[in-house]
Amino acid sequence: MLKNLKGKKILITAGPTIEHIDPVRFISNSSTGKMGYALAEELHKLSANVILVSGPVSINTTLPASCIVNIKSANEMLLVCKSYFDQIDAAVFCAAVADYRPEFISLSKIKKAETLFSINLVPNPDIAFEFSKCKKANQVSVGFALETDNLISNGYKKLIRKKFDFIVLNQPHQSGSGFGYDTNKILTLDKMGKLVEYDLKPKSEVAKDIVSELALVFAHKIQHSNN
Ligand code: C5P
Repeated sequence: MLKNLKGKKILITAGPTIEHIDPVRFISNSSTGKMGYALAEELHKLSANVILVSGPVSINTTLPASCIVNIKSANEMLLVCKSYFDQIDAAVFCAAVADYRPEFISLSKIKKAETLFSINLVPNPDIAFEFSKCKKANQVSVGFALETDNLISNGYKKLIRKKFDFIVLNQPHQSGSGFGYDTNKILTLDKMGKLVEYDLKPKSEVAKDIVSELALVFAHKIQHSNN
């Protein structure tokens, strides 16, 4: 089954995005990018044609530099991803994209003052949702959701809205799971409502489970297109 990933063009987003306030300050989150990089490395090992669009991370990767496009902000991530949308076989949206960005970026460092200071935030584009608007029947997409409450019902809503073939769910307060850890405990939920629960394991092993599910989705698509 994994053989059908060979030569597939797969876009992966990973890491956080950073949204500048001024030249030296930004809004971001604590995503390390470990899960996205583990997925990209696993897919590369299986001879997939990987394009990893990565926010700022500190990871030593075995991936060739030619597979990685480094970006900082959500808008930059969207621009790069959009340029690949019509060529890819699959997209795996693993990045923790910042939900908001400052309305304006100050060109010079903002001076400290003794008064209240506020920043207007505007919503960032949703890259996975943008892909869902042009996704073709033979293209696959995988999403991630980190939820503190109603994990499964919130995850399912995201899966439907963003037209994911399946979504990887994880809870940040599960010990050893989520941002920063080398391990992860996931559930996967597909659009037919099939839920699979996996054990806590190293992110490199979690990547293998997700890649196996991806290979299964491709196998189903091929079967249906032949019928
Ligand atoms: O942030 P949220 O929980 O809605 O993320 C669900 C999925 O959508 C994730 O796969 C994430 O990478 C993707 N996403 C995105 N662009 C955003 C927000 C989320 O691609 N601006």
